[in-house]
Amino acid sequence: MTAVDADARQWEYTTYAPAGETCPACGVPIKTLESCRRGMLARRDSSPIVAYWHTACAPREAGQ
Ligand SMILES: [Zn+2]
Repeated sequence: MTAVDADARQWEYTTYAPAGETCPACGVPIKTLESCRRGMLARRDSSPIVAYWHTACAPREAGQ
């Protein structure tokens, strides 16, 4: 697996976030049964991590 090299702007798919995930765009926790976008969030001081955004919060330019 080379997930570390994934493009940070490329959304993987619409899914459901695990409990405790917070949307990095608005800072509001994502509900367990709320559909969201899964993607990679690049941190300056560490490796990219998987993050979840509300569908409405996902940057438009990141899509097709
Ligand atoms: Zn949000």
